Order: sequence, then C-alpha cells, then structure tokens
Amino acid sequence: MTAVIEATDLARHYLVSRGPFSKPAELKALAQASFAVGEGETLAIVGESGCGKSTLARLVTMIEPPTAGHLTIDGIDVLTASGSARKKLRRAVQIVFQDPVGSLNPRQKIGKALEEPLVINTDMSAAERREKAEKMLAQVGLRPEHYGRYPHMFSGGQRQRIAVARALMLEPKIIVLDEPVSALDVSIQAQILNLLYDLQQEFRLTYLFISHDLSVVKHVADGVMVMYLGRAVEKGSVDAIFSNPRHPYTRALLSATPIADPTLARDRIQLEGELPSPIDPPPGCAFHPRCPYANQRCREEVPEVLADGETLVACHGVAEGRI
Ligand code: SF4
Ligand code: MG
Repeated sequence: MTAVIEATDLARHYLVSRGPFSKPAELKALAQASFAVGEGETLAIVGESGCGKSTLARLVTMIEPPTAGHLTIDGIDVLTASGSARKKLRRAVQIVFQDPVGSLNPRQKIGKALEEPLVINTDMSAAERREKAEKMLAQVGLRPEHYGRYPHMFSGGQRQRIAVARALMLEPKIIVLDEPVSALDVSIQAQILNLLYDLQQEFRLTYLFISHDLSVVKHVADGVMVMYLGRAVEKGSVDAIFSNPRHPYTRALLSATPIADPTLARDRIQLEGELPSPIDPPPGCAFHPRCPYANQRCREEVPEVLADGETLVACHGVAEGRI
C-alpha cells in the first residue's frame, strides 16, 4: 500500500484561558495519533464531539500546523515543505464540510463559487473555468444550466453535491469529508454516499471520512480509527471493528448504533456519564470514569496502543486479557 497520508504521533495542543486569575490551561486536542491511508482508500475517524476529529481535519488540510509528530501527505513532509510544495499540497487536499448551506455564499451564483478555486490557483481563462465548472456539475449529478443559479434554489442534498463539485475543481488526491451527510435526511444520505463512492472509484480519491455515526461509516470506510478525548483508542479494518470490536468505548459506540447483528448484542456496553472536558481529562485511561472494566491501573496509567488480533487497541483490560 502506498500511503497517501501518513501520520506518526501527530499532536495538537492549544493554550486556553481559564479566566483572568488563572494560568492558561493546555488543551490536548490531539495526542499521538498515528495512521496511514492508502491511495483510493477511506479511513473513517469516529468519535463524539471533542474527540479530536475536527482538529485532525484541520491538520491534514493544513489550516493549522501540528504541535508535535510527523505528517506526510502525498510523499511531502507537511512541516518542512517549501513554498511551492505547500502550494501543491493545498491543491491536493480539499475539504467538504457538514453544512452545505454555510459553506456557500448566498449571493454568489454557484458557477462562480465553483470557479473560485481556479481563479485563485490557476491561470485558466474564463471560458476554460466555466467549461470545467459545468463538467463538474454534471459529474455530481447536477446539470450545466445550474451554473447560473443561487444556493437557495437547491435542496440540502443538491447543495452538498455542489460542495463536492467545488472540492473536485482542483483535481485533488485527498478529500477530507467532515461529517458530510450528518445534516441530511437519511434518504438523501445514501445518495450522497453513493456519489462519493462513485467519484472515489473514478478519480482514485483518498478520503478521510470524519463522523460520529458508525452506521454511516460501515458502508463507506476501509479502515476505522476510533477516538476518545484526543486519543486514538482503536484502529482496524472496517470488518474487524464491526465484527470484533475490542475497546470498551468502540463497543459502547456500536451498542448505541442500530445495526442488525445479533452477535453484537451479547457484549453491549451502555455509554454512561458525561463526556469529560478535554481541558481537564481524567488521568490514566481517559475513558475510565465511563468504563465498566476500569481498575486501579486504568485510573493511573495511560494505556499504550498495542496490536490485538486484527486491531490496534489502547486498553489495559484488553492487554491484560481480562476483556
Ligand atoms: Fe476501560 Fe481500563 Fe480499558 Fe480504559 S484501559 S477502556 S478504563 S479497561
Ligand atoms: Mg467537529
């Protein structure tokens, strides 16, 4: 597998204010994330809000730099890349956000919105840009005559198609899909997921698919990385994660997902308690206050990521063979 995205111990910390009389706190939005995504593959990043998935999206799209670790995209080291290499990378990686309404300017015709990345990044003529925009509209299941219309004239699903078309304008290799179907009706979700699948096949796109919804992930991902409070807790192929989840948090997420699989029912874990603040995460395994298997070691020691059968798991209980 040629890795198009390769991350090693990637981390992102922020200093956040705790009020006028306290020292700022260090928020570990992402700690030691390691993963690789091969060309034409989809890695799903799954977890609740605050787990670090949006931070990861910002690092991969180079909106902000990591605090530590290594990130290589399309063979280029993001941290040391020169100006021209960075420019190339910015074209190679595009992003589609959850909210198709918020990501389009209501006063801009969608054809112009599609052309914007070409205006900024290429020296194509107006006629060439228009031709490309119309071609991309057709590619995502819209029509060339939609070029002159405004965003409000489209449904939510159509607007997400437009956002996808816009992401494709610079012929990227990688698209970060940040909750791409979460704002859509279930009936529309499947259409967009099918479109994304078809585009991936046609253009050999690599996807980083960010979602809180494991049932969506099941149909689109090759690999899954489950995150909790800034850390990867389990990583494996989609089949391994769904057929034999090991980490208690993964099992809790699956237990909360309506998937017709009676074999999963026997080890259901109910997710109890609140998600702790990422500014003040629990010591040891951050999941311990919500974990039915927690013991003293779990409360004190951060578990390492270790291979367990087909997946990589960060859990003392699994490492000790008691789960
Ligand atoms: Fe539960 Fe301990 Fe495993 Fe954390 S390390 S998930 S607390 S068993
Ligand atoms: Mg988010």
